[in-house]
Amino acid sequence: MIFGFGEKGTTNLLTRALALVGEKLETIPDPVQIDYHLPNALDVQVHRDYEKFIGELAGRFPHEAAGIRAFYDECWAVFNCLNAMDLLSLEEPRYLARVFFEHPLACLGLVKYLPLNVGGIARKHIRDEELLRFIDMECYCWSVVPAEKTPMINAGMVFSDRHYGGINYPRGGVGKIAAALARGIERTGLGRLRYRSRVTRVLLEGGTAVGVELADGRQIRGKRIVSNATRWDTFGKLLPEERTPITEKWWRGRYEKSPSFLSMHLGVRADALPAGTECHHILLEEWSRLEATDGTGTLFVSIPTLLDPSLAPPGRHIVHAFAPAVVEDFQKMSPAEYEAAKEAFAGRLIARLERIFPGLGAAVEFKEVGSPRTHRRYLGRADGTYGPIPSKVLPGLLTMPFNRTPIRNLYTVGDSTFPGQGLNAVAFSGFACGWRIAADLGKISLLGR
Ligand SMILES: Cc1cc2nc3c(=O)[nH]c(=O)nc-3n(C[C@H](O)[C@H](O)[C@H](O)COP(=O)(O)OP(=O)(O)OC[C@H]3O[C@@H](n4cnc5c(N)ncnc54)[C@H](O)[C@@H]3O)c2cc1C
Repeated sequence: MIFGFGEKGTTNLLTRALALVGEKLETIPDPVQIDYHLPNALDVQVHRDYEKFIGELAGRFPHEAAGIRAFYDECWAVFNCLNAMDLLSLEEPRYLARVFFEHPLACLGLVKYLPLNVGGIARKHIRDEELLRFIDMECYCWSVVPAEKTPMINAGMVFSDRHYGGINYPRGGVGKIAAALARGIERTGLGRLRYRSRVTRVLLEGGTAVGVELADGRQIRGKRIVSNATRWDTFGKLLPEERTPITEKWWRGRYEKSPSFLSMHLGVRADALPAGTECHHILLEEWSRLEATDGTGTLFVSIPTLLDPSLAPPGRHIVHAFAPAVVEDFQKMSPAEYEAAKEAFAGRLIARLERIFPGLGAAVEFKEVGSPRTHRRYLGRADGTYGPIPSKVLPGLLTMPFNRTPIRNLYTVGDSTFPGQGLNAVAFSGFACGWRIAADLGKISLLGR
């Protein structure tokens, strides 16, 4: 479910990042962001067309029609502020001064929302408890926390951009995004990429980051060092625990690792999917299971071949289904026990999918299951985590770290930094980090400002 591929405004950061290296991807617009299948037969589709979505939701909750519009319109207010300005480093004073000078009202709007979470704003407009559970799900499905812990800035982006730039699927699969970026970086001579180069530690000299050491012992030095690993991997693994700055310890008191996922890729016969099936589905049978990690929690489904049939052989579809899971439930097992645990979890997911796709189980011709251990191993993420989540209700995004760290010349980027998870959000973090480093190296003028 890819945000950031819009053609207009400033929040289309994937389009903009690729354009910077002379690349553009062909994308396929997704007419429905999510087809929800929720408790009490709350079946709602989030249409790309804003009015159609608001109308459908209000049709289910007619007594809340005004509140629904007021809530989502307030999200638009946040989005319109973001979409008016270049999204660069909020920790670079000259950039901040310039955007404030160019867009004073938008900046003041964002300052107002920066410490707020969605829950408080939803409750301001909406009373119906079931509808508030729906808003929880609207947040959970990308922030992996309910509305009361989800920052309003991120929600403003997600709940509006899906109707503005829309959800767009890169033809050929999401892997095309990284491939295009890598191709552009090398073709333009902006950088060099080294694959299969696992960093085992950040090199420090006199407290300053000066390079990295790879698993094969090679050392690479640089003027500035950027870690795209999670904060738990950066501080405590790539840097020894005793070098973990005090600010990082405070951060760990406020955020925790979100669970990982059990991910299942299925190859299915096309006849298992009814005509008119949408690409993305979310399934939950009981609200109390929203965050459950045993296979009964929120079940996410993507069927990319509905948008791009070229990804599978004729007459077949790819079904990617995943649900929250924790690494502890897949550890300390023999290989046979591990396989059995994955099979059992996947079996629960397939049984649940039968509710929306009757006969799916019998149509499966290929199945590959990845556990939180798989996420940990192949993505290099502590416990396979999806990313940091607030461990308590926090003041919106105010406590999310930016790119600089207390270690001189060491920066962090990606979903452990402002503004959090999701491809468009980490692209924002990348733009911000690049800008901050350019400022620190005195190169801003080369970037055209
Ligand atoms: C199942 C699932 C579905 C998702 N669906 C969506 C979606 O539909 N839309 C969306 O926008 N987002 C989605 N996300 C979230 C999105 O994938 C992440 O937020 C995003 O990829 C985070 O980017 P990142 O660069 O911060 O981290 P990563 O994507 O984890 O990238 C970090 C990179 O650093 C490398 N690395 C780590 N440690 C080292 C080391 N020591 N040495 C060398 N390299 C290292 C890793 O190999 C990796 O390539 C999904 C996530 C999951 C798990």
